[in-house]
Amino acid sequence: MSLLEQYESLGIDREVYEIGAATEEKLAKRFAAIDKTAEICQMKVIAAMQKNRVSAECFETSTGYGYNDMGRDTLEAVYADVFHTESALVRAQITCGTHALSLAMAANLRPGDEILSPVGKPYDTLEQVIGIHPAKGSLAEFGITYRQVELLPDGSFDYPAIREAINERTKLIEIQRSKGYLTRPTFSVDAIGELIAFIKSVKPDVICMVDNCYGEFVEQKEPSDVGADLVVGSLIKNPGGGLAPIGGYIAGKSEYVEQCAYRLTSPGLGREVGASLGVTRSLMQGLFLAPYVVASALKGAIFAANIYESFGFSCVPKADEVRHDIIQAVTLGSPERVIAFCKGIQAGSPVDSYVTPEPWAMPGYHSEVIMAAGTFYQGSSIELSADGPIEPPYAVYFQGGLTWAHAKFGILMSLQKMKDGGYLPPQV
Ligand SMILES: *Cc1c(COP(=O)(O)O)cnc(C)c1O
Repeated sequence: MSLLEQYESLGIDREVYEIGAATEEKLAKRFAAIDKTAEICQMKVIAAMQKNRVSAECFETSTGYGYNDMGRDTLEAVYADVFHTESALVRAQITCGTHALSLAMAANLRPGDEILSPVGKPYDTLEQVIGIHPAKGSLAEFGITYRQVELLPDGSFDYPAIREAINERTKLIEIQRSKGYLTRPTFSVDAIGELIAFIKSVKPDVICMVDNCYGEFVEQKEPSDVGADLVVGSLIKNPGGGLAPIGGYIAGKSEYVEQCAYRLTSPGLGREVGASLGVTRSLMQGLFLAPYVVASALKGAIFAANIYESFGFSCVPKADEVRHDIIQAVTLGSPERVIAFCKGIQAGSPVDSYVTPEPWAMPGYHSEVIMAAGTFYQGSSIELSADGPIEPPYAVYFQGGLTWAHAKFGILMSLQKMKDGGYLPPQV
């Protein structure tokens, strides 16, 4: 069977196939540059594993209290070295990215302290963590206050307003690297470095925490290389490499990471407890694969932007823009198109390809959201997945792809569904 026949047997017609082939050919140079970054990140990971003497014994499991879990401790040392930090906490007991961020803030803040987001509104789920929207157990309930400074209209930092917002109570700065569900730009690591340098010049002892979700291994450097005191993320996104079944990480200065360990388990116990329950091998191997998985996801994002822009849909980042995370936003302009797009991603999945995604009221989000996720792990968004809040401007946020071929197929499937529904304007 030829490749075209293979695609046709999966429901892609010749026209869609050819759009894909032409787009891929055009992108060869950029894809080669992505592979270079992946190679550099791969060496970083291998070096950290060798330095910390990762061995077969590391893959033994622990149960109960989990005292003396060598594999867990080694994994944490590996993470610290990959991120060039003093310490790291990498645990299955950190249930997701929101939990990791919530933990990092709750552990390092005390009543009367203030959080500042100098980059506008944080990720939706953090609004309840912080208490921007009243919620049970929020930081606001503990007398921790919050301020934010909006980005300037061109997406850059409003330095004078940031200087003004920093006060004697400002204890922690929350910088979200990725755009999340917004259409603002994602920040480069260098831009984050400049922002941190400015903040430290105003108040040197403030804790600069970066929400690193979706950013890991996209660039050769991480925010911890440019002054971040804490970097925080989810293992069912980039650094889990698609193999981590659960987990979150917090890497950074020892004093702040230790606070997180005592908050996660208990004062007095800290990082000494927390059984690994057999997941260490997956977390370690996932980290090993992560640079190339991220490369596949990045290729998919760029491929999608190039295709959808050619039909006149506006994309963030734009088709030819440099990438700082794996998310691609495509503004489709109508709920029907968002739904068709997501149905295509679902239909292209290895798992649950026969189910039809529908919009639903997801906990933690404002509006109904439609999610396409035919994933091996529930909600894993390093696997090819798409979500679209059903609200103007009807943008779909798409990310992941454990292999480039699958990312490509999923996107072609989305295009096919748009075409079959009659939602595709003529190519421009
Ligand atoms: C995904 C994400 C989170 C939250 O992570 P969950 O694992 O979904 O809880 C926080 N911030 C950003 C920027 C994210 O992309």
